[in-house]
Amino acid sequence: MRTSNYLLSTLKENPVDAAVVSHRLMLRAGLIRQIASGIYAILPTGFRVLQKVEQIVREELNKKGAIELNMPVVQPADLWRESGRYEKYGPELCRLKDRKDNEFVLGPTHEEVITAIARKEIKSARQLPINLYQIQTKFRDEIRPRFGMMRGREFVMKDAYSFHMDKASLKKTYDDMYDAYSRIFTRLGLEFRAVEADTGAIGGNHSHEFQVLADAGEDTIVFSDKSNYAANIEMAKAPAPDYERAQPNGKAIEKIATPNCVSVDEAAAALNLDSNQVLKSLLVKATDGSLVMICLQGNYELNEVKASKIEGISSPLEFASLDEIKEYTQATAGSLGPVGFKGRIIIDQSADKMANFACGANETGYHLINVNWDVDVKNYEVYDLRNVVEGDKSPYDDGILHLRKGIEVGQVFMLGTKYSQAMGCCVQDENGKLVPMEMGCYGIGVTRVIAAAIEQHHDDKGIVWPEPMAPFKVAIVAIGMNKSSEVKEVANKLYNELLERNIEVLFDDRDERPGVMFADMELIGIPHTIVVGQKSLDQGMLEYKHRRTQSKELVAKDNIIDFVISKFEN
Ligand code: ATP
Ligand code: MG
Repeated sequence: MRTSNYLLSTLKENPVDAAVVSHRLMLRAGLIRQIASGIYAILPTGFRVLQKVEQIVREELNKKGAIELNMPVVQPADLWRESGRYEKYGPELCRLKDRKDNEFVLGPTHEEVITAIARKEIKSARQLPINLYQIQTKFRDEIRPRFGMMRGREFVMKDAYSFHMDKASLKKTYDDMYDAYSRIFTRLGLEFRAVEADTGAIGGNHSHEFQVLADAGEDTIVFSDKSNYAANIEMAKAPAPDYERAQPNGKAIEKIATPNCVSVDEAAAALNLDSNQVLKSLLVKATDGSLVMICLQGNYELNEVKASKIEGISSPLEFASLDEIKEYTQATAGSLGPVGFKGRIIIDQSADKMANFACGANETGYHLINVNWDVDVKNYEVYDLRNVVEGDKSPYDDGILHLRKGIEVGQVFMLGTKYSQAMGCCVQDENGKLVPMEMGCYGIGVTRVIAAAIEQHHDDKGIVWPEPMAPFKVAIVAIGMNKSSEVKEVANKLYNELLERNIEVLFDDRDERPGVMFADMELIGIPHTIVVGQKSLDQGMLEYKHRRTQSKELVAKDNIIDFVISKFEN
């Protein structure tokens, strides 16, 4: 490709509204352009990268015997009613009607469609197991689209779905896919961890996420320093406190004015206490519409996934609105507490160990001190409800837990029979009885992978692609081509030879200052650059530049192609 015939679309300035490096660089390097909030066009350079990622995904899945197909983005709402997700999925599911008033959705994921296909096409257990995948556009009306391709509303996902006679066969494919994912992310040059994960809106009972380690990540992942244990913080069990609750100090409860204190820290400061001596009280919705109080030791955060798994609590967890809090307790959110609260109270196991603590008085602007469980609050249930924190003891080994930020690039699920049961996707077992198939599903956020790779691989000049993802392998920068016929001739010859050898090359043949050309090639992140200039040609040499290490070498003109190839990393 010659830049003179190409849509380079690089930007010199940093776009103002891009908060993370990958978003800035994807805009500046001309990979993407926003068309609407969370909706992007993928420009030619970005599309080349996308195709690279897709190809690696395809190769590794095909090796595991997965079969590619293509399903529609527009899906009948009735299929979603069959699975029960039409009502459950919430506002992320984009619903629409055709001219005849038939209802449809834009596919955020394809369990319903693939199950409708499998129940028709799979007639015998002999056809199982089978693993089908597609690489295709998804639409999720995300509440907060942000960070460019990291959290878009429209994005490209590889989604695979497997069907089985029994759990053992499902386990085998799950392990195969786990292995394929590890190979894919390793080949893509990413530093990642597979972590135990919650199953969320997809469902099922066993799942891992593949997380690329990066500070820009929206997820927190937890590792033990003594074993392979790694989990999304949503799933990480907190260690049970290894100390007993202190005895009540016998002092009477006292009501203290804490005007304008909204947070635990503000209340603690006003009361001259540490935040771990103040109870944090929150109101959430129960499935029956009532409000439930959740209490934590003030220095800990609620783990919403753990709370939502408790019988009778809304899932996904829904907090009471400010109006509902006021109506239910007559107090504002910062002044809530369990003393005198009329509803169900659930408390974290560390809150259970607190004695003589402070909590909101259920009266705006007041807190109570010298409060004790079983004395002042008699009915409460104890659970693990908090997020683990850096330095917690691992509940699974004798190690310490550490926290890192991660970008979820893939997730694998054992679904069991959730969809096959609901949608009647069955085969006959050996006794001739119709049984629902066991299912697995496996996603990779192909466009998010690109953003995640840039978060890990960039410098102050731009993107530094891991070579398997680079849009071009080699750049040719010709300096003063219009002044020197030798430069022009050598650069053109080099370009043609690289093309002939099927090496992807971008030939910068613009009549630009060298600095502009170098800056663009570095911004785009092309791993290897050959500089054709009259000065080095006078010595029979060409200059070679390596993007990642920034090293430069003079190489004999006739050896340059072999030399460059010797530098390739894959
Ligand atoms: P998240 O928790 O980030 O919202 P998810 O768990 O809902 O993602 P899955 O249903 O597991 O997503 O989808 C499979 C993969 O698709 C994810 O691992 C992620 O890489 C990608 N993905 C999901 N949502 C988005 C999005 N809004 N933009 C880009 N990629 C996404
Ligand atoms: Mg996920």
